[in-house]
Amino acid sequence: MPEGHTIHRAARRLRSVLAGNRLERVSARGAHLVAAKAEQRLRGATVTEVEARGKHLLIHTDAGWSIHSHLRMDGVWHLYRVGDVWKKSRRRAWLQLGAGEWDAVNFDGPILEIARTEELLRDRRLTELGPDILVEPFDDANFLRRMRRLNAQEIGEAVMQQRAVAGIGNIYKSESLFIAGIDPWRRNADLSDEELLSIRTTATRIMQDGVLDARAITFTGPGAPGRWAYGRAGEPCRRCGAPIQRRKQGADQRSTYWCENCQS
Ligand SMILES: [Zn+2]
Repeated sequence: MPEGHTIHRAARRLRSVLAGNRLERVSARGAHLVAAKAEQRLRGATVTEVEARGKHLLIHTDAGWSIHSHLRMDGVWHLYRVGDVWKKSRRRAWLQLGAGEWDAVNFDGPILEIARTEELLRDRRLTELGPDILVEPFDDANFLRRMRRLNAQEIGEAVMQQRAVAGIGNIYKSESLFIAGIDPWRRNADLSDEELLSIRTTATRIMQDGVLDARAITFTGPGAPGRWAYGRAGEPCRRCGAPIQRRKQGADQRSTYWCENCQS
């Protein structure tokens, strides 16, 4: 599932081939876009900026139009050189943006919109986001204020609320709480500011590694590279040997993995 690190990584790669370049090839299809209009609005425009905000990816152009992409579970951006064989069927591509020898191609993204830049930047889906876990400097005071509004939730649910902090998904939720030694089932209200900030700095650190690495790897010790807790239900804790637990958590019933012994 795309988490914030995936989006930042995609933004970085798209920026490297699109920013400052004119869109020579634009091909749009699918129910998300009025294809003819999308092509008309984007073709010949120069990409001014590619940015990630939480799990949202924005591509701005000098034509005053921006592309808003959210990948949810299945969406992906690929980069291909002209002439490359695509890894997915061309029929499944929602949007192809070509500049020079590169094409950026979006497949299967559930949100893909073209909007006036000024309107998009006022869009509540973006303005209501908390500070991005991967953007420095990070505003800790703003983060704490937003987390305290969620005091009734358990920390394992609160830390995934994009209105409190943007970018943390299900994998990094479990991993951050494990590494910080915090029980996911504690109520947010019962955590000190210091504990909340330790979760925050842990998440930033391991997700920065994820941006460089492409994979959500948090554990590189003995055995294969992998994770401390996520996806390891029933396997021995890498710190204490107790079995890693898994249970659904929060209104969205997302799986949380933790060690009862190390996180208490
Ligand atoms: Zn343990």
